[in-house]
Amino acid sequence: MHAKKISVVIPVYNESRVLEKLFARLVPVMEHLGRDYEVLLVDDGSTDNSLEILMQHAGSKITVIELTRNYGQHAAVFAGFENSRGEIIITMDADLQNPPEEIPRIIQVMEQGNYEVVGTVRRNRQDSIFRKVSSSAVNAFTRRITGVCLKDWGCMLRGYRRHVVNYMLESREHSTFIPALAASFAKDVIEIEVDHEARYAGKSKYSLPKLISLQFDLVTSFSDFPLKFMFYAGMFLAFFGITFGTILAIARLCFGAAWAVEGVFTLFAVLFFLVGAQFLAFGVMGEYVGRIYREVKKRPPYTVRRIHEKSPKGALYKIREICF
Ligand code: UDP
Ligand code: MG
Repeated sequence: MHAKKISVVIPVYNESRVLEKLFARLVPVMEHLGRDYEVLLVDDGSTDNSLEILMQHAGSKITVIELTRNYGQHAAVFAGFENSRGEIIITMDADLQNPPEEIPRIIQVMEQGNYEVVGTVRRNRQDSIFRKVSSSAVNAFTRRITGVCLKDWGCMLRGYRRHVVNYMLESREHSTFIPALAASFAKDVIEIEVDHEARYAGKSKYSLPKLISLQFDLVTSFSDFPLKFMFYAGMFLAFFGITFGTILAIARLCFGAAWAVEGVFTLFAVLFFLVGAQFLAFGVMGEYVGRIYREVKKRPPYTVRRIHEKSPKGALYKIREICF
């Protein structure tokens, strides 16, 4: 399906040194598409003069959204989604690590294959070794918890259909990881390789604590592994305590009191059992907390794309498009 309007959402946090170059490269690409478009730049509480530069470029096709403080990249993208009107929504970073020249290809792939989400894999990624190694671990983990086999979850140059964005907006989540959330609402997802450049200017906004917090968001939003882990660890410890206690009781009967160091081993067995029981109780409580958390997130339990029905008279199938 041919999208009439394209939205591009870009989060901006202290990027004054790259913005002019960003406009100089992005606007010609968008004009060349020959379609209606809008660029939504979300100023995520910048403390340099990024906002002023953005305001100078604001116009009929360029919207600037100013957040009151720094909320983080994913929250800023959400603010952009909320105000976007295109049928295809592209997200990208402001620092030109994602070349804007790749946007037409994303749209083309999405429309030709009727995809709901087009992700990108960074070819020759221009980041530090530490970032590359930690990314590959995060990618493997994200594949596991989402069950979606994408290679690169971290590249924000992505395309989404309107309905996927709407579903994301419907789930009012505070800390989330957009590519994984989108994958939970889409079936037809594809990844294409794109170039990756070094940051045009400035430094990465992700310090180690910020990166860890982002990964923590990912784990807690999309998996209940930490809760389950507590439950299973508790089961294991309690089982170990019971087995140990039983062996001790038998040995005590066979070999007398002196064998078990006058009850010290028994104390250990009791301790293992009690710690295990505590973990189990936490795990069960956690399961309930997890359920409350899922409810609070208000993610739609399912999302309908089309309804296929047969008209009463003819044999023709009617397809009612719910999405797109
Ligand atoms: N960004 C943001 N808020 C933040 C951190 C980053 O809006 O708190 C924006 C930033 O301006 C850039 C994009 O998110 O457009 C990606 O940030 P960065 O390039 O620092 O991340 P990296 O490429 O190192 O993962
Ligand atoms: Mg970057």
